[in-house]
Amino acid sequence: MAAFDLVVRGGTVVTAADEMPDCDVGVGAGRIVALGRDLAAGGREIDARARLVLPGGIDSHCHLDQQPYWGVEPADDFLSGSRSAACGGTTTIVPFAMPLRGQSLRAVVEDYHRRAEGKAVIDYAFHLIIPDAGAAMVGQELPALIRDGYTSFKIFLTYDGLKLDDGETLRVLACARREGAMTMVHAENDDCIAFLTDRLLGGGHRAVRFHGIAHAAAVEAEASARAIALAEVVGVPIVLVHVSSAGAAAAIREAQRRGLAVHGETCPQYLFLDAGDLDRPGLEGAKFLCTPPPRGAPDREALWRGLADGTFDVLSSDHAPYRYADPKGKMRHGADASFDRVPQGVPGIELRLALLFSEGVRTGRLSLSRFVALTATNAARLYGLYPRKGTIAVGADADLAIWDPERRVTVRHETLHDNLDYTPYEGMTVTGWPITTIARGAIVCDDGAFLASPGRGRFLRCEASGHGRGTSRGDGIVRAGPARG
Ligand code: MN
Ligand code: MN
Repeated sequence: MAAFDLVVRGGTVVTAADEMPDCDVGVGAGRIVALGRDLAAGGREIDARARLVLPGGIDSHCHLDQQPYWGVEPADDFLSGSRSAACGGTTTIVPFAMPLRGQSLRAVVEDYHRRAEGKAVIDYAFHLIIPDAGAAMVGQELPALIRDGYTSFKIFLTYDGLKLDDGETLRVLACARREGAMTMVHAENDDCIAFLTDRLLGGGHRAVRFHGIAHAAAVEAEASARAIALAEVVGVPIVLVHVSSAGAAAAIREAQRRGLAVHGETCPQYLFLDAGDLDRPGLEGAKFLCTPPPRGAPDREALWRGLADGTFDVLSSDHAPYRYADPKGKMRHGADASFDRVPQGVPGIELRLALLFSEGVRTGRLSLSRFVALTATNAARLYGLYPRKGTIAVGADADLAIWDPERRVTVRHETLHDNLDYTPYEGMTVTGWPITTIARGAIVCDDGAFLASPGRGRFLRCEASGHGRGTSRGDGIVRAGPARG
């Protein structure tokens, strides 16, 4: 009988801390059971010489099978979304359970479990979305859910029906501190967006590109600084999600310099798309419309710097799968819709890792270990999944992505595994590709072939963090190099 179910042999194993050349990975019962040279035979063997063996990605910000609102429906359910993630080297997803007004959060979570069961092909947890800060929510409903393993949630400082004012934000943050939960913040100034949108529409400026002006960088920078101040008042960590601009990155960096536990997340759309993409002819620009919007080269440079220097801890996709030529997607209000009526969001769950690898690692901006930290390890730590997820270590789940660092791929939507009808990255060429994805010891994707059965993914209960830990940076998050001045 073979010593291991599977041996991944001879690759360079990379974690957030180390690169181990010529290292075999022995897998048994879905877990990593041995690491080292010359391991005994496996029932199945994968030759990983000249390959990189990385932890499978964790996409800690994606939207799958979200309840339709305003007649807009996401194209990806838990099958197509998780299949697409897996084929892009991701082995864990953390989508959102989003209540609509008046719904009980508990009932919503149960509903999302039903949406995932029988469909997800990789393991998943849920973030909650918190629509109000009433006594029932922060006193009972939310604490009970946190104790049941839903230990992170997103709040919004904008959007009707979701936005929290400063007092409400403080009450939710205080609950997060009490319960050891992690708060993700969508930081944009709602009054600014309303003011700018009114002015633009009143002046007849309806085109998609004006979305970028209504959601100006200053709108994000102000709300980011305010969210940081509110978290400082309460003494609790936060994650500023989908950061798009140099100003918001600077606010995060300054907070970290002061020793606050402020974490930053950015996404491929802010590294690879440009404000000018919103100005493509007709409603073509809608393919690039997301919130916050893609910006210009100086912002992108600031984000790349922040990925390298530790300002950002996480790169996620914010996969928001709305089809383009579809009345339930980007065309919900027709081809001449004003910018404020176009569904907001872009897909990216399958290309997140390859894009960052190509433009981050291959160019020398990011070390391999930094890439692993940004795409897997830090998300596992922030959201209570470490060390079961997010690293390659004995005892961890055998979630691996085997990369050919030389493989050149030109992005074509037709080769992706999602259920959309476009990718905003069409035609881009990347170098480096996740050839084989292994999730809990099973080969779920190999050389473009999807091999998993629907429903094999399991729900992951997330850990809460220790109480009162909020103000320091002793959080285990892996950052770049020495302390910054
Ligand atoms: Mn958001
Ligand atoms: Mn989102």
